[in-house]
Amino acid sequence: MSSITITLPDGSSQPVAAGTRPADIARSISPRLADAAIVAKVNGQLYDLKRPIEQDASVQILTAKDPAALEVYRHSTAHLLAAAVLELFPETKLGIGPPIENGFYYDFERATPFTPEDLEKIEAKMRELQAKDLPFDRVMTPKAEGLKKYGALGEKMKCELIEEKADDIFSEYTLGPKFTDFCRGPHVPSTSYLKAFKLLSIAGAYWKGDEKNHQMQRIYGTAFFSKKDLDEYLNKLEEAKKRDHRKLGKELDLFSIQDLAGPGLIFFHPKGGTVRKIIEDWMRDQYIARGYSLVYTPHVARSDLWKTSGHYNFYAENMFKRMELDDAEYQLKPMNCPFHILIYRDRPHSYRELPVRLGELGTVYRYERSGVMHGLLRVRGFTQDDAHIFCTPEQIEDEIVNCLQFAVDTLQTFGFSSYEAELSTWDKGASGKYDGSPDQWALAEGALAKAAARLNLKIKTMPDEAAFYGPKIDMKLVDAIGRLWQLSTIQFDFTLPRRFGLEYIAEDGKAHQPLMVHRALYGSLERFFGILLEHYAGAFPVWLAPVQAIVLPITDRQLDYARQVKERLVAAGVRAQLDDRSEKVNLKIRDAQLQKVPYMLVVGDREAQSGQVAVRHRKRGDLGAKPVEEFVADVQKLIETKDLSE
Ligand SMILES: [Zn+2]
Ligand SMILES: [Zn+2]
Repeated sequence: MSSITITLPDGSSQPVAAGTRPADIARSISPRLADAAIVAKVNGQLYDLKRPIEQDASVQILTAKDPAALEVYRHSTAHLLAAAVLELFPETKLGIGPPIENGFYYDFERATPFTPEDLEKIEAKMRELQAKDLPFDRVMTPKAEGLKKYGALGEKMKCELIEEKADDIFSEYTLGPKFTDFCRGPHVPSTSYLKAFKLLSIAGAYWKGDEKNHQMQRIYGTAFFSKKDLDEYLNKLEEAKKRDHRKLGKELDLFSIQDLAGPGLIFFHPKGGTVRKIIEDWMRDQYIARGYSLVYTPHVARSDLWKTSGHYNFYAENMFKRMELDDAEYQLKPMNCPFHILIYRDRPHSYRELPVRLGELGTVYRYERSGVMHGLLRVRGFTQDDAHIFCTPEQIEDEIVNCLQFAVDTLQTFGFSSYEAELSTWDKGASGKYDGSPDQWALAEGALAKAAARLNLKIKTMPDEAAFYGPKIDMKLVDAIGRLWQLSTIQFDFTLPRRFGLEYIAEDGKAHQPLMVHRALYGSLERFFGILLEHYAGAFPVWLAPVQAIVLPITDRQLDYARQVKERLVAAGVRAQLDDRSEKVNLKIRDAQLQKVPYMLVVGDREAQSGQVAVRHRKRGDLGAKPVEEFVADVQKLIETKDLSE
């Protein structure tokens, strides 16, 4: 038997017999490694543990610690799912079944839709097959033979995939008696490796993701190396479901989307409007305090403006359709930038006036396809806390420091103490898709990096991820259940100042082009509202809560006193309501609790006589009676300090 040389990651080499499998190599290193092995890498390519190695190669054994191993594990579970479906529903045709972030899916074609009960049956069948320790076996099939075989079976999708993707001889994987799929692999050696999985949902999908193609049924599932990890993930999903802003928005009467008006257009109801006003007021006050000027601009403009900005040609598919008005063509704005630029350009500027910082809560409209809209997170109309800074090269680093500090202060004010920052660069322009000169890029990227360093902000660099018109820093926050949300963006633009011919007169008396920075800290107010709602699970801290206190008279006898208490609170700037229904106080408490009102003020005869309220907190329960004035002072303090703990 001939011998080959394998090289291990530690650099050591050894001769082994040709046909040795990665699993044998793992065992020769240690029994523990053999037990922990999930898959291998041979010459950098993922490789089945039990597939023979025929030539000299570098070999690496991957265990659960390697993210690539988890993908193979999940993809293998997808095969197990398909094998179970074929056992139960043999007429089903198979689409594709890849791993995805947090799990896997498999697409099936079948006349009858799968029901939730089917999902349970399929999962039970998966467990049954899993317990049989079925091997994932790799079979090589010549392309022509494969096409003939699947053609005869009427497997059109498989033939299409083989036509497009298969080599002259391609690999298929079998699992159990019924399942064979055209697949590059690799997989785990057998089903006993698949220890913790769960099917999650059924959704519609189009073959190859194209709505012109036929519809398929997609089953989503997830898999983890241990039951503990799976349970943790399922708990998190459960928790996320409870916090779903669409559900909370309805339960707490905060906002709606109205069919009659159209999808992706948000209606803020009185309570949601109250929270939004607080969010807006905070931002406007900060603009003023930090040297921004507030502006207001229209929602539509002539197409000529969008031609000058470039959006007409390069952003057309994201814009609402054009409309005719007095022989001219108009369009709704997808961005505020060109408007702020027109204000800047309306008169000459000396370097002495720079930086010019123009801020607006500007509503924009973007076309999103009907299938992708999602509550407040993906909409067709939204308001950005949008500002544009025009400044000199000497000013740019301080300007970025101020922007970043502003972003961090925003996050912290609203209760996000954990966040990440990413710097997207042009990677020295190697990919050739960028506008602007190397000097401009160097200056801008340098300013972003130096500013982040001055604030001790840990920053991850994303090479070649910049927009074509300039580098940027994105801030992502981590919410109460550990999810990451993209929020603030600070973005350079070398293109628009040139397109609009922006200038300032510098110290040398000559006209120069100013640097321009776009920045939005909430991003979209709608989206930020949705994130806040999920972060707090609807229980906004007192200073943000739409109703901060509700007065609950025990009987109608205390109605007059209860009214006085409510009026006293309102006069003191506390958002208070009165529940004057003739209902039992326990029911009133329950309802206020469901509405997540921070304070319930119960008043009976004793409180009415002594000028007190019995205070109940939505989380801490009964806090005892106190004089109305004392309660007012306590709440005022929480509001003033924007306390996040109550
Ligand atoms: Zn596969
Ligand atoms: Zn902009």
